[in-house]
Amino acid sequence: MTLTESKQHIALVTGASRGIGRAIALALGKAGHTVVGTATTEKGAENITQMLQEAGIQGEGRMMNVTSQAEIDTVFDAVQTQFGAPDILINNAGVTRDNIMLRMKDEEWDTVIDTNLNGVYRVTRACIKSMVKNRWGRIITISSVGGLIGNPGQANYTATKAAVIAFSKSLAREIGIRGVTVNIVAPGFIETDMTAAVSGDHRDYFSKQIALGRFGKPEEIAAAVLFLTSDHAAYITGETLHVNGGLYMA
Ligand code: NAP
Repeated sequence: MTLTESKQHIALVTGASRGIGRAIALALGKAGHTVVGTATTEKGAENITQMLQEAGIQGEGRMMNVTSQAEIDTVFDAVQTQFGAPDILINNAGVTRDNIMLRMKDEEWDTVIDTNLNGVYRVTRACIKSMVKNRWGRIITISSVGGLIGNPGQANYTATKAAVIAFSKSLAREIGIRGVTVNIVAPGFIETDMTAAVSGDHRDYFSKQIALGRFGKPEEIAAAVLFLTSDHAAYITGETLHVNGGLYMA
């Protein structure tokens, strides 16, 4: 059996200015898709535009904070006008505000819930109408191994990363019949700004728990995302793809 590669699509990647989102934007662009990547600042958006241009990828950077429905609506309308409605959505934007529960502040809890969970809800809701209408779509949300096994000091973060898995399963059951797949990629420890603070002894400790003995690279998450967007993954929905080097085996 042979499978043809996906035709070209319009991909919206949240949080494409750095780390995993940046690698995903480049991977989707190199696969021939038009890519709109977002950042929380104009400067970040300009850098994304420049990065895409240098890589010969059609698309642009846009400023969009996933905590703002107004900014999401503005970006969606602009993308629709300029390139067409996004039919690949990568919910990648995320933040941490680590603290043990005894010291957790409302601001730390609320920021993480509003970005990592409510943000996924807002952006997904904005994008699914046209996907359903066109009877094709791919939605991939970046969870975390922490959402499966927990992590001390991250009750807020891991709660959101578990929640997006259930969210995706429910949505997969709602819109699968319309040709839209909804999946999760759950990374382990990946070398980005988010894990830059994990230093020395902690890094050695965590690396010893990983079967492959090292932190992952953003490109290794992007490869999994690219697969799930492709025709090779046409019959996969509601699934969580664990990309953690064997830190956790589901
Ligand atoms: P990162 O290097 O810290 O980058 C975070 C990205 O999210 C940036 O592009 C940032 O934009 C954007 N962002 C932050 N807050 C936002 C908001 N309110 N609205 C829109 N965009 C926002 O993080 P990363 O390590 O690449 O992580 C990417 C995703 O993978 C996150 O969902 C994270 O939880 C998940 N993840 C990461 C790891 C890891 O080990 N790194 C492991 C498991 C899961 P600005 O540049 O404008 O701030």
